[in-house]
Amino acid sequence: MLWKCGTFSFELKMPLIMGVLNVTPDSFSDGGLHNEYEAAVAYGRQMIAEGAHMVDVGGESTRPGSDPVTEEEELARVIDVVRTLASEGICVSIDTRHASVAKACVEAGAAIINDISGFRDPAMVQVAASCDCGLVVMHMRGDEPATMQNDTNYTDVVAEVRDYLRDQAAMLEAAGIDHDRICVDFGPGFGKTAEQSRDLTRNIQEFVRLGYPVMAALSRKSYIGKYYGIDVAADRDIASAAEHLLACEQGAHVIRVHNVPVHVEVLRDLRPYALIALGCNVALVAEPGEEREAKIAQLNMAIGDMCLFPDTTIIDVSSFYESEPAYYEDQDVFVNAVVLMRTGLPPKELLDYLHVVENKLGRVRTIANGPRTCDLDILDYQTYVVNTEVLTLPHPRINERDFVVKPLLELLPGHVLADGTPVGTVPEEERIGRSFRIE
Ligand code: ADP
Ligand code: MG
Repeated sequence: MLWKCGTFSFELKMPLIMGVLNVTPDSFSDGGLHNEYEAAVAYGRQMIAEGAHMVDVGGESTRPGSDPVTEEEELARVIDVVRTLASEGICVSIDTRHASVAKACVEAGAAIINDISGFRDPAMVQVAASCDCGLVVMHMRGDEPATMQNDTNYTDVVAEVRDYLRDQAAMLEAAGIDHDRICVDFGPGFGKTAEQSRDLTRNIQEFVRLGYPVMAALSRKSYIGKYYGIDVAADRDIASAAEHLLACEQGAHVIRVHNVPVHVEVLRDLRPYALIALGCNVALVAEPGEEREAKIAQLNMAIGDMCLFPDTTIIDVSSFYESEPAYYEDQDVFVNAVVLMRTGLPPKELLDYLHVVENKLGRVRTIANGPRTCDLDILDYQTYVVNTEVLTLPHPRINERDFVVKPLLELLPGHVLADGTPVGTVPEEERIGRSFRIE
């Protein structure tokens, strides 16, 4: 997956760090520190030197209840800072909800427009369509930061935010904007209670499934203050880094942070992801007519066992799919699924653990590609490519198998395997083991 931002094209194999540069007198956590041009430019350079990939320049505080500034004042605060940093080859993002500010900053060299109002303003969409910048589409309730906390009624905050981001991104694509330019931000703290913000950060896989890069902008937010018991915003950096690590484990691609070094340090703890394919076409115990349920139950047992692997977290599980037998066709239909995990287990050890689960579920190997109570294959392991007798990674037959491609893309649309192969390159009708999602 790529995020295209003007002349920059970011690979998303590892999380990107966006450093926050507020050129405002009243931001909630660092207001007044960088409002001089020289200080702002110096701090932007410093964050890049510390390991940030991009700098997000903002001239309007958007903390709850903040006072709006005029567009002229906002632009005057940021424009020279944007121009100088961009001229030094730095990827500069402009954090604004005003089309005139975005336009002037893009002309001054900004490569990203970060719009907290989610490109609701048609003038902002026009600016976006007339350039090739990256775009951050954020969810916010209400029209203004000043009033956004007035309405925090949701029946299902995760679903509502997800559907809003999906629709706004589709609107941008319909306006002619390239899919690869769009990044989505679930907007914690923007028209959400602390509980709602926390709920969003615990369900990031829902946003990852939309198929766009996902930004986690959690730094120093008040929900962290509440749940970690830290009143002073500037004291929340360690807790923010912990939250961002969790976000990245769930698949967030970009984190927006105030304190860059703390985050560089914490991201070293990010465990690799592994994708596991599950398959079953022999029910161990089943009443006639209930074989499918029994196969699903067996795969659920395997998933339950995977939850107990050491240093491993199950991030997401696809739907179950029923599939026609492939290769060896004279056998019963399969149930398949894919699991996304983060694990500290090295690939070979992970395979050993998977074999233990297979054996526990009565796996016997008589016919190659033949009937099985439980088959657990490693499809892909982050950045790891190998081809030995016992282990081949990425799994060499992913793209020819409908029963692998469909559940995998459900979890990670647009996924690219560790060896650079995109998933889904073979047209559906040419794949074997045709597969249907079980409702
Ligand atoms: P199938 O090819 O139908 O999955 P098995 O489950 O019997 O057949 O696997 C045969 C062998 O394939 C395993 O014992 C394992 O050592 C090897 N293997 C190689 N690469 C992988 C992989 N990526 N995931 C799982 N097994 C693999
Ligand atoms: Mg296998």
